[in-house]
Amino acid sequence: MANGILESLDGKLERCSINTATLGHRESLRITVDRIARAGFGSIAPWRSEVESCDVHALSRQIKDAGLSVSGYCRSTYIPALSLTEFKANVEGNKKALHDAGVLEARCFVMVVGGIPVGSQDLAGARTQVRDAVAELLNVAKEVGVPLALEPLHPVYAANRSVLNTLGQALQWCDDIDPDRSGYLGVAIDAYHCWWDPDLAQGIASAGNAKRILAYHVCDWLHDTQDFLLDRGMMGDGVIDLPELRRLVEAAGYVGSVEVEIFSKENWWKRDAEEVLSICAKRLQTVC
Ligand code: ZN
Repeated sequence: MANGILESLDGKLERCSINTATLGHRESLRITVDRIARAGFGSIAPWRSEVESCDVHALSRQIKDAGLSVSGYCRSTYIPALSLTEFKANVEGNKKALHDAGVLEARCFVMVVGGIPVGSQDLAGARTQVRDAVAELLNVAKEVGVPLALEPLHPVYAANRSVLNTLGQALQWCDDIDPDRSGYLGVAIDAYHCWWDPDLAQGIASAGNAKRILAYHVCDWLHDTQDFLLDRGMMGDGVIDLPELRRLVEAAGYVGSVEVEIFSKENWWKRDAEEVLSICAKRLQTVC
């Protein structure tokens, strides 16, 4: 990108990725990989539930043979726990997943860090547990060659999915845990989670300066959303100024994939997979 002018994604689907959640996990990853490649996208972001039921090495070969790269591997085991034993098990689960991310040669391991353990009211303690775990996982990330992408989630999820809620908070954690900017700790910026943040433009610029932007996820926030988890909109159907957001992310130096990630139980997950992919392709090229 030159001079802050946004280049269209028209004819550039190779720069775009499909997060497999967008298709509702209705068929095997083997089939999904081929669908996404045939539709012309350059990358895929698979989920652990799909990958861990396969031979990961064979899957990695299939993805490469299809001409795809892996824009991100979804996602971390939630970290905060009531007991030390459980906390350690959560960290171990993430270490195992990081090794698979290495086999897949994923551009990043997406970290959705987890909420407050059931029965606890200790938000600060949950955040401390996450920071301790990320510091430990950073060593494994370096070993396997896959950076950790902290994904702040909209604060509506603070109780049950993520105690990490703004880009500014994520960047502060990155600087505290990885002050030398090793290249193995950064952020995933998801339009759905970040669009409302009054400090977003400044946060994106700071993230770019620190070379911390590892992923960029798109969908839309529907004006009258029916479900904060499972009613994400297709790009162009909601309130997010997606071209402006991509302009900010790319002006900050990000050159990676634009990844579509839509959870939509009552709409997109009921539609034919080929139709969903073709509408994703059209919207990416016209309204993103
Ligand atoms: Zn995301």
